[in-house]
Amino acid sequence: MSLNQVLEALSRNLTAGGLLTAPDDIKPYVSDWTKTAGTAMAVALPRSTAEVVSVVKACRDAKVPIVPSGGRTGLAGGAVGTPGCLVLSTTRLNRLGEVDIVGRSVYAEAGVVTQTLHEHVHAHDLEWPIDLAAKGSSTVGGNLSTNAGGVAVIRYGMTRKWVTGLQAVTIDGDVLELNGELEKNNTGYDLVQLLVGSEGTLAIITGATLKLTRRPRHLCTLLLAVRNFTAVPDLFVESRHLAYDIQAFEFFSNRCLTSVKEKLGRKCRLTVEAPFYVLIELEGEDAYRLQASVEEWVAPLMTQGLVLDGMIGSSSEERKEIWGLREGITESLALSGRVRKYDVSVPVRHAVEFIDDVKRTIDDQKPVFDLYLFGHLADGSPHLNLLKHPHASMEQFEADGERFEKVLYAILKSHGGSVSAEHGVGLLKKNWLTYSRSATELRLYRSIKHAFDPHNLLNPGKVVDV
Ligand SMILES: Cc1cc2nc3c(=O)[nH]c(=O)nc-3n(C[C@H](O)[C@H](O)[C@H](O)COP(=O)(O)OP(=O)(O)OC[C@H]3O[C@@H](n4cnc5c(N)ncnc54)[C@H](O)[C@@H]3O)c2cc1C
Repeated sequence: MSLNQVLEALSRNLTAGGLLTAPDDIKPYVSDWTKTAGTAMAVALPRSTAEVVSVVKACRDAKVPIVPSGGRTGLAGGAVGTPGCLVLSTTRLNRLGEVDIVGRSVYAEAGVVTQTLHEHVHAHDLEWPIDLAAKGSSTVGGNLSTNAGGVAVIRYGMTRKWVTGLQAVTIDGDVLELNGELEKNNTGYDLVQLLVGSEGTLAIITGATLKLTRRPRHLCTLLLAVRNFTAVPDLFVESRHLAYDIQAFEFFSNRCLTSVKEKLGRKCRLTVEAPFYVLIELEGEDAYRLQASVEEWVAPLMTQGLVLDGMIGSSSEERKEIWGLREGITESLALSGRVRKYDVSVPVRHAVEFIDDVKRTIDDQKPVFDLYLFGHLADGSPHLNLLKHPHASMEQFEADGERFEKVLYAILKSHGGSVSAEHGVGLLKKNWLTYSRSATELRLYRSIKHAFDPHNLLNPGKVVDV
């Protein structure tokens, strides 16, 4: 089949507006948040699983690679279009099922925006607890395909914990109905969990049965200024003695706070400027008692000097204000230009030593960038962001970034860490996979890829080369 015949077949099988071929129409779909240059011959926007099947079959027959695309908020380049590919966008697969309040689950098509799902289940006082700053644009299919983490992992774990069943289309156009609503099903290999985190390289997820939990009762959000990075894990240890559930434990450096204030015009009510800030969110049954306990807990920490200043957000406005500082960081850094990003993880107990090693490397190398540090300390995943000094050239920045990267990953390995905590491998981490996975694991990856996609047509060149 020629490319023209493929496009004809696609436009025949897709409902109106389901195929984009004009360069200006295609452009928004060929890259993600990494702004990695991408390309595509066309974009398909199927409205149903049957339409996905027809797209996949046409592409398989003509050997056209397919790049699945959700909200394109990915930070690993997984949704970046490759030469000659067809981008399959899930934007129009956006139906939500009724909430099952007995089984606490809901069916969502892959293109449902994460926040829309949240609002849908909030109406039943339930929660799908995958919470990330990109939730206004990211999709359920993208969250599943990247096994997204986010700010509530300390309490709820990653996305893979919040799905029971998947519907997915294989490269042969078979529709897999995997596990449905079953909580228990020990009948061999778990294909649901294999597809979660597979970044569109094994099958196209078209829908999922998602597990729900109750919404938190009362939340109290604290923003605490601390004297150095060591104080961050110290505070984590302290906070875990509290008789409340920790909903989030995040940190950011003063550089990140300055960036959010300057680039997004956000305000911080703390009067003390400190090297690091910690955001802790706790849940309690009773708002009044929760706030009183939190105040009682913080007072001696201030006397000891572990905490330099703090504010407590109890109302939704105050909490929103505090979260705005943390959640605005990625956006504010992006507004400063090219950012080299490292979403790494180490065992939490190694966090201080790891960051010390990183800082020492930067001191030794004297690169033309500054380190912006923030992230999820509770699950050992700091985000390292490098921003170019204003007067340095882009060439020097990239060269210094690459020099730093080599040492960073060696340090990471020595601490038993991972080159990707939660953003996935995509294009950007592929060459570093050997730092986190053994040769045997990678051989098995290739076998799995071959079993699902023998002609390497699903998101080729992502995660692992075959
Ligand atoms: C401001 C900001 C904050 C973020 N914070 C976090 C965070 O805290 N934690 C975190 O983990 N991530 C975070 N991210 C990264 C990103 O939001 C997540 O990776 C998210 O899960 C991607 O969803 P998406 O719909 O945008 O997927 P996309 O970017 O469109 O795609 C991601 C990958 O999934 C594949 N894919 C998408 N849909 C499907 C499908 N239906 N079937 C098969 N494959 C598919 C794509 O091919 C690609 O490989 C953040 C991003 C931004 C911009």
